[in-house]
Amino acid sequence: MDPQSFKEFSAEMTNFITNYLENIRDRRVLPTVEPGYLMPLLPTEAPQSPENWEEVMADIERVIMPGITHWHSPRFHAYFPTAQSYPGIVADMLSGAIACIGFTWIASPACTELEVIMLDWLGKMLDLPPVFLSSGGGKGGGVIQGTASEATLVALLGAKAKMLKKVKDQHPEWTDNEIVGKLVAYGSCQAHSSVERAGLLGGVRFRLLDVDAKYRLRGNTLADAIREDKEKGLIPFYVVATLGTTSSCAFDNLEEIGAVTTREQIWLHVDAAYAGSAFICPEFRYLMKGVELAESFNFNPHKWMLVTFDCSAMWLKDPTWVVNAFNVDPLYLKHDAQGCSLPDYRHWQIPLGRRFRALKLWFVIRLYGVQNLQKYIRKHVAQAHEFEALVLSDPRFEIVSEVIVGLVCFRLKASNDVNEAFLKRINGAGYIHLVPSKIKDTYFLRLAVCSRLSESIDIQNSWKEIKLRADEVLAEQPNSK
Ligand code: PLP
Repeated sequence: MDPQSFKEFSAEMTNFITNYLENIRDRRVLPTVEPGYLMPLLPTEAPQSPENWEEVMADIERVIMPGITHWHSPRFHAYFPTAQSYPGIVADMLSGAIACIGFTWIASPACTELEVIMLDWLGKMLDLPPVFLSSGGGKGGGVIQGTASEATLVALLGAKAKMLKKVKDQHPEWTDNEIVGKLVAYGSCQAHSSVERAGLLGGVRFRLLDVDAKYRLRGNTLADAIREDKEKGLIPFYVVATLGTTSSCAFDNLEEIGAVTTREQIWLHVDAAYAGSAFICPEFRYLMKGVELAESFNFNPHKWMLVTFDCSAMWLKDPTWVVNAFNVDPLYLKHDAQGCSLPDYRHWQIPLGRRFRALKLWFVIRLYGVQNLQKYIRKHVAQAHEFEALVLSDPRFEIVSEVIVGLVCFRLKASNDVNEAFLKRINGAGYIHLVPSKIKDTYFLRLAVCSRLSESIDIQNSWKEIKLRADEVLAEQPNSK
């Protein structure tokens, strides 16, 4: 592609993107295609000679859009939000053009240095204790991981390395395998599946502990589990506390959990994947009380802070455990500035390669400003409470868990089967999209405020649709007449 064609193609794409996003309400949120829809629309072989960009452009609406679930529609309420914004999109364009692989400082000094500075900006925006920051005067620092799942695994591997060293010092006669066989990690039964998976990938036992009536992991439950396991000769080494669980957005009691992990000298990792963005607003920081007791903290600006996927921010009080756990140092990756005060991020993560993701944070934070990012969070939370009030205004419905930030868990006051049929009808109609969850045998629906474009009127429209589908499903029940 010659430079002139690139300018024309990208200008046309910019138009397409703007039209797509500004008119996204006109599209059905869920696609109607069947599995395998794409095969008949494309040739079976790659083209031998070049096509022109106009042909590619024309195929986006014909081939791609029918198979898109519109995550940025204000009527998309499934899972948790995934972020997106114009500054984030433009930053990814630049990242694509520079296309460096920033695994060491010399591999692109700006890539490393901007990441260090952005993680400090962001840490300060959350009011994280200075020990987590590279400017905090200690060993602390931040890194951008691809996902929260990677952050949980990286922290687990750091904790494993730390405990192995400690136990080896006490019992030099024990082999690594003997020690690893005794290690045990903990999280709540409400923790994201990636937490349990980190245990599987890390080759250690993982215990998922019971929660209280508000679906929170409490300090006593953890303390009891640790005592039981130590009596069995096991070695507790890692705890994941979740701030904002996936099922119901519950917040584990970090202060209580941190008191236990501090007493027991166990690594505490905080998974605040979704809800962490709310901590840029001072009024939500009570939910992370006790964060100073954690060894590592993670949240996803790519979920709720307008930074396009992937951007998962992780801070470590002492990254040397992670760095040492992953340190393989071939000659071709060595450089003269190695060991300077700036990190070689290849040691902080699982892959070697890494994109220039700090650009997205830099563009978004500068072009919104912290105040507008706070406004954005507050607007979503207000819309969640607006929806909660609508649910409470209809005696056929109940709220299942406390609405704290942008997620509302609700159900019809009816059996699980009726609620399943209700959700099937909502998603079948395709006007809005929700996903369910189940805690302790209670099936419920989750409505997350997701879209950057979401306004109060969208919430009211989603509620109208929900009421309509409830009318239909309840009318079909045998004793409805
Ligand atoms: N932790 C929590 C609490 C989540 O809600 C999620 C995803 O929604 C994850 C972890 C996984 O996030 P990621 O896709 O960034 O790995």
